[in-house]
Amino acid sequence: MRERSNGKKGRNANRRERKPAERETVVAVVAEGEADGLQFSHSGGEGAVALSGSPEPYRSLVESFAQGALSLREDGTITYANGSFADTARLPLDRALGARLQSFLVPSDRPLFEAILDGREAVDREFTLLAADGLRRPIRIALRPLPQGGFAAAVSDLSEEAAIALFARQALEGRPMEQLVDEAARMIAGTLEVDLSVVLELAEGDTVVLAGAEGMAADDKGLRVELAADPHARHTLSAGEAIAVVDYTASGLFAVPSWAARHGVNAGLTAPVLGNGRPYGVIGAYCRRSRAFSRNDTRFIQTIANILAQAIKRKHAENDLRRSEEYYRSLIENVSEVISVLEPSGKLLFSSGSLEAVLGRRAETTRGLNVLEQHHPDHVERVRAAYSRALAAPGRPISLESRVRHEDGNWRDVEIVLQATTSLSGAPVLVSTMRDITERKRVEQERALLASIVESSDEAISSRDLEGRVTSWNPGAERLFGYPAAEMIGRPFGVMALPQDEMQANFKIVIETGRPQRFETRIARKDGTALDIATILSPLRDSNGNIAGAVLVTRDISERQLAQQALELAKTNAELEQFAYVASHDLKEPLRMIGGFANLLKRRLEQNPDDHEAMEFIGYILDGAQRSQELIDALLDYATLAPGSEEFEQVDVGIVVGEALAALEPGLVAADARVIRDPLPVVRGDRTLLAQLFQNLIGNAIKFRSPERPLEIRLSARRDDSRWVLGVGDNGIGIEPGHTDRIFNMFERLHNRKQFPGRGMGLAICRKAVERLGGKIWVESELERGSIFYFILPA
Ligand code: ADP
Repeated sequence: MRERSNGKKGRNANRRERKPAERETVVAVVAEGEADGLQFSHSGGEGAVALSGSPEPYRSLVESFAQGALSLREDGTITYANGSFADTARLPLDRALGARLQSFLVPSDRPLFEAILDGREAVDREFTLLAADGLRRPIRIALRPLPQGGFAAAVSDLSEEAAIALFARQALEGRPMEQLVDEAARMIAGTLEVDLSVVLELAEGDTVVLAGAEGMAADDKGLRVELAADPHARHTLSAGEAIAVVDYTASGLFAVPSWAARHGVNAGLTAPVLGNGRPYGVIGAYCRRSRAFSRNDTRFIQTIANILAQAIKRKHAENDLRRSEEYYRSLIENVSEVISVLEPSGKLLFSSGSLEAVLGRRAETTRGLNVLEQHHPDHVERVRAAYSRALAAPGRPISLESRVRHEDGNWRDVEIVLQATTSLSGAPVLVSTMRDITERKRVEQERALLASIVESSDEAISSRDLEGRVTSWNPGAERLFGYPAAEMIGRPFGVMALPQDEMQANFKIVIETGRPQRFETRIARKDGTALDIATILSPLRDSNGNIAGAVLVTRDISERQLAQQALELAKTNAELEQFAYVASHDLKEPLRMIGGFANLLKRRLEQNPDDHEAMEFIGYILDGAQRSQELIDALLDYATLAPGSEEFEQVDVGIVVGEALAALEPGLVAADARVIRDPLPVVRGDRTLLAQLFQNLIGNAIKFRSPERPLEIRLSARRDDSRWVLGVGDNGIGIEPGHTDRIFNMFERLHNRKQFPGRGMGLAICRKAVERLGGKIWVESELERGSIFYFILPA
């Protein structure tokens, strides 16, 4: 039978490995006869005490010994034996009493044992026991002569002890768990000489798994069994102690475990493998025939179970330790900080892998390096001082900033936290945590620089959050607007007398589109004075790139405005100069003529009162006076041209043009003119100025028409962004190139009055009107083909 022979092999293996078991402190304690003495021996020596009074406590002590305890007469006759000896010898206790101990030894051992008895010496050696079941088992007998005669003897079952010692050693060696489980099953089968042995591991859901087995087919391993189907194991687990069943069928205590039934099992001994709270499982030994398991058997199986439990516990602890070690290692290796352990001198004992990321060095290459040498020369002394301070107060963290050399030769700014502690060997060490702050430093410096620029800037710089509340307000803003920062920060739109809708409209565009906006406006300072400003609003983004508000840079453009005004003044001056010129030349000319003819007339009338030529002269005088009058009217027209008004209104150009055409109707009819007009817009402007403009231009088109073709007037309108470009075109005589600018000056004419009547003021008035309306005027013309007068008006 394969199963049986396996068991044998296990047992033989044990015997080969046999070694003296660990000495128990008390090797033998024997109660002699009616027990008046106690002999003991321990690792420190031997001794005996006389018992006075009741021996009962000692007897019960001895009874419960796991070892066999005997007292012998001089000839080896057993006068006392405890239960363990009876177990080892496989015989009832009463059959031992009165028999000689040597009769239980194999015949070959008997002469030696008797010689030892005769010698009355303390002996400790191995013999072979011939048990009542016919099997031989190795035993150790510790024999001590008692002072009052006779001997005390301690008998240990070496097969069990050896098995336990071997298993304990295997467990201590840290063998893999499955191997230990298999070994436990094998030891039990071999030593207890049972047919079947198993290690049942408690699994989830009230089941056990057959983790190790001896005497069964290999593929039985891994079998999962409901605890309900193995009441013996279940009870063992809940009781927490070994339970023997001599005969499952006869005792009716527990049913045969379901998994064991097909192996024909009839008796079983189980022991719990106890864990720290929840048991790990059950070890069981089973026989096909009924079997009365001895106390020794129980003790043995429980000892194996306990060793296994210890091994499991240790494995768990090791796993926990390894896991926590891995955890801390991964913490150390994965943080961006470099964690190092240094000797007080600065010599590097350990550095975490993050060193490579921070300083470009592999941690392994730096062991033994002196860290102090890696610091910037300017910082070394400070770092050394920090070491001393840290070492003087172990456990207290000291932080400092320094610069250390990167593998690429550059210096990196670092922040270091030092803490002194004690190494495993008891030597003082420094634990240093180093973080690269180069980038942070750079950002800080940049920020400081920006802040100082903003602080010292003459321009008013402020920022607003998404709700429009002021979040910053630099001194430039304080100066420009007159509001101190304390009054503005946290305040919403509307606190300042800005044109709010303009501000809000621009702000909204910036927030929504992220595109910077610029606008110019006039505001009131805190003190009420007016200020012309240009403001650029730019989006303010948070670190994620989302728009978080806007930055406003505002500039005082009053000066520019002044420059603009100066420019306009210069223009006015130029106009005045032109006016003076005109007054001195053009106005003088008819006046001179008046003066000349008046003198001639005076002389004639003095000499010859009936002179007919005199009438002619008077005609000239009247003409001159008339012309002067006209010139002065024209000048007045020009000078009193409706002043540029800030209160422009919406003017329908179509209506204005209609009125101008109606006023010029006779001329148009006379010229047989055809008027072509685009749809004309509504513009912001002044009705009178526009009327003057169109009347002059259409009037000129009629006046300067070509005699060769019927007049055609084209009124055009084209939208260009926020402006209108209006045109008055004709197919008249056209203008010579080179004169297209001049004709807009006062009294400039290209023809004499005989060819075309006129005073040369029409276009000057047009230019002035257009400028008042905020636009400009020009002409495009081709001689003999026609002209188009264009002017731009804001929509
Ligand atoms: P006036 O019409 O009184 O001469 P304007 O200032 O209106 O004065 O015009 C100045 C000059 O520009 C005109 O004398 C004429 O030579 C020229 N001019 C103006 N309009 C036209 C036109 N539509 N076609 C040709 N020449 C023109």
